Amino acid sequence: MANKKSSTRTLPKEETLGFQAEVGRLLEIVANALYSNKEIFLRELISNASDACDRLRYAALTQPELTAGDTDFRIELACDAKARTLSISDNGIGMNRDDLVDNLGTIARSGTAAFMRQLEQKSDGANLIGQFGVGFYAAFMVADEVTVSSRKAGETQGWRWVSDGKGEFTVAATDDAPARGTRIQLHLKKGEDEFLDPARLRRIVKTYSDHIAIPVVLHEGDKDETLNAASAIWTRAKSEISDEAYTEFYHHVAHAFDDPWLRLHFRAEGVLEYTGLLFIPASKPFDLFHPERQHGVKLYVKRVFISDQCEDLVPAYLRFLRGVIDTEDLPLNISRETLQHNPLLAKIRQAVTKRVLAELKKRAKNAPDEYIAFWGNFGAVLKEGLYEDASQRETLLELARFATTRGSENVSLGDYIERMPAGQEAIYYLSGDDTDALRRSPHLEGFAAKGVEVLLLSDPVDEFWIPAVSEYQGRQLKSVTRGGTDLGKIGDKKDADAGEAADTAAETPGLDALIAFVKLTLKDDVKDVRVSERLTDSAVCLVADEGDIDMHLERLLKQHRQLDHAAKRVLEINPGHPLIRRLADRLAGDNSAGGTVMEDAAHLLLDQARILEGEPLPDPAAFGRRLTSLVERGLTSGD
Ligand code: ADP
Ligand code: MG
Repeated sequence: MANKKSSTRTLPKEETLGFQAEVGRLLEIVANALYSNKEIFLRELISNASDACDRLRYAALTQPELTAGDTDFRIELACDAKARTLSISDNGIGMNRDDLVDNLGTIARSGTAAFMRQLEQKSDGANLIGQFGVGFYAAFMVADEVTVSSRKAGETQGWRWVSDGKGEFTVAATDDAPARGTRIQLHLKKGEDEFLDPARLRRIVKTYSDHIAIPVVLHEGDKDETLNAASAIWTRAKSEISDEAYTEFYHHVAHAFDDPWLRLHFRAEGVLEYTGLLFIPASKPFDLFHPERQHGVKLYVKRVFISDQCEDLVPAYLRFLRGVIDTEDLPLNISRETLQHNPLLAKIRQAVTKRVLAELKKRAKNAPDEYIAFWGNFGAVLKEGLYEDASQRETLLELARFATTRGSENVSLGDYIERMPAGQEAIYYLSGDDTDALRRSPHLEGFAAKGVEVLLLSDPVDEFWIPAVSEYQGRQLKSVTRGGTDLGKIGDKKDADAGEAADTAAETPGLDALIAFVKLTLKDDVKDVRVSERLTDSAVCLVADEGDIDMHLERLLKQHRQLDHAAKRVLEINPGHPLIRRLADRLAGDNSAGGTVMEDAAHLLLDQARILEGEPLPDPAAFGRRLTSLVERGLTSGD
């Protein structure tokens, strides 16, 4: 409901606008939250002020006139005890009318959006405020009216935004804005007078904002006091940085609110000179697999913020990293465009990647339980590196952990190889949509009987790295659903079982004839029919022929419409299964009347194998008809 549009001469008097519906809801929660850490509002406002200064500093690299000679960035706090106001001012980039409306009237911020999503599932909004942070809107935890006065760098007109946080705000042109940047004035709610106390403000800034590189100055009478260390935290000596300061910096830079799982602060000197302060979150960001996710690592050149969109700084398979890389080697006036495919950045990326992976290896060794938690969050992302970055493949394979048929613990390939029984040469895996379903697969029966462990792969990414990797430490990676199993060669842990398949095959007279019959009957639907080495309990299963596409990959590709034909499969038959024996008997004894019954049985064997595989039946009606007919026969001939 904006008033008439502003012409060049007459500015609109004052417009009253409504918050986006979600902001309205958010504000209600924020205003009424019985949240014990209300002081974090100051962290949010200082964080925004610091971002605003960074943005102006960057813009001024190409448009120096924007700073008009004033590059002394600062954030100022001032209290008015009588009026009961606290104001936070910065001389950063500032906001004009449209910026104010867009930035402070809608939810643009990813953390806040995540907060709202969580809110739909849980009711405990107060706790969630702590977990996600609510950015600017946190001001309404302590204020019953917020006045934002701002003048955008390079513009002459100042603007004022006012709201009590109850559904609406006003914007109007004003002469009372800072010369450049933003002043946020909070009229404190009753009972929030503590935020007028200099000692309290000093403590809050020290706790939450000490890492901010720009001075945060408390203005008291005509005395100015700088409350924070006011140098970029990553340039300071490790010994001078407290754990809390590191964590607060992480919250600021990552817009995250958990405690980081890993912190990596390093300085490289020599050919390349750069400093890194990187973190790995303890919890999984919700947008890890969104194509338009934010980049987590910011690029600085000589302490000046350059970009948080720099895709070349860390590889995509480390996209869970948060933090900054600050280099001395790039020119300050580098444009965001020329950052693409920059050879220097490529070198930094390589070095940083190595460093991070080495640290992960250390963690995996020294704190295996914590490492498993990390792997649960980010393993699927890290595995992308297996096909994207051949140079780190060995390290990544060492870092990888897998669910297996042996218990519930995740194991490394090294562990797996160490406990392979004598005679086992390949590393066996089974891939599918979920681990629990995989555990019930008939393909595993023979492996279980031989005590052969099988990796259970259920991340979609597994289908992509497996073909690229194919072996680890000279051991081939082999799907249990493909080709022969070589189970006969493996160990004699369970002697009885070991020879059983072969013995039964010899002992089942008529088996060859049965196989020939089934093959003939199903000739259009299967590639081959064979005696199975891998089945002990089930009668049949489907396998992919050696060299054919893996069955799970085929299903995935079909789901994504990347594939429109299916490879024919091999039907394997368990010669020891009573059903198979009976069918062989029947075929041998009665070759006149059995025609359709035996054909129905052959089709049912195939359909059963398809069902076990989780594949849809091509002709469910025929399946139903055949099943009914056979059961009916069974009932009539039965005793
Ligand atoms: P975030 O900082 O995560 O983007 P906030 O809710 O804290 O989310 O702030 C919303 C937006 O308002 C910011 O992205 C920024 O564009 C704008 N903003 C807030 N404070 C300032 C400020 N002091 N100067 C300039 N812009 C600001
Ligand atoms: Mg913010």
